[in-house]
Amino acid sequence: MKLKNYVLLSANLKLKSGLHIGAATAKDVGKGEPLPVMKSLIRNLPFIPGSSLKGKMRFLLETIYGQINNDGGPCACGSCQICLLFGSGSSKTTNEPTRLIFRDCSLSEKSAEMLEKVGLENKPGVSIDRNTGMARRGALFPMERVPEGSEFNFQVSCRVFENDDVEAIRKWLMVGLYLLEQDALGGSGSRGSGHIEFNNIKFGEETLAENWREEAAKIKEDLLEKVKIKK
Ligand SMILES: [Zn+2]
Repeated sequence: MKLKNYVLLSANLKLKSGLHIGAATAKDVGKGEPLPVMKSLIRNLPFIPGSSLKGKMRFLLETIYGQINNDGGPCACGSCQICLLFGSGSSKTTNEPTRLIFRDCSLSEKSAEMLEKVGLENKPGVSIDRNTGMARRGALFPMERVPEGSEFNFQVSCRVFENDDVEAIRKWLMVGLYLLEQDALGGSGSRGSGHIEFNNIKFGEETLAENWREEAAKIKEDLLEKVKIKK
């Protein structure tokens, strides 16, 4: 297989609600202390690991196309469109290189400056007492969140091999981004956290049209059957 070139997908990832990508579990923090978010070592600023985005996009694509592995892990067939893009879930069935390289997402300079002023959000953990209907404090751990409105630099570098269809890779990524917007990223996604939005999407030289979501919604149904990565 000959590697022809790399095509970069870049976008502005904006938080529409607070984001919690945890750096510790409840066991690791003192009582009443909030669960921390992942931060970079040098600047101590929150970032989004590429693995979180890659894992979530893969999970969503596998789920809508029913490519579910019985053991709960990622698809390990090594030959479906999802394995071609994200890599096989098993080293035994890996017979070609992963197409998509998800970069860690750093905060935009503007958001980093804002955060240095206001700090992270501290969200209390509250659940409802089933008998009284009142809040049961301490039942859930409080957690840090990167505040709504923060913007991150999102990048995926796509390896294009000589028989690959670049347009097909673009379509798969569009649907992946669309699903990530519908779903949530990080912890407490079903309780409001991790609502994200992608703007200013560029794929190689091309800037995607404002109505990219309409295209993604339209092609979603046929993607697995009709949009093949390899010609
Ligand atoms: Zn597969």
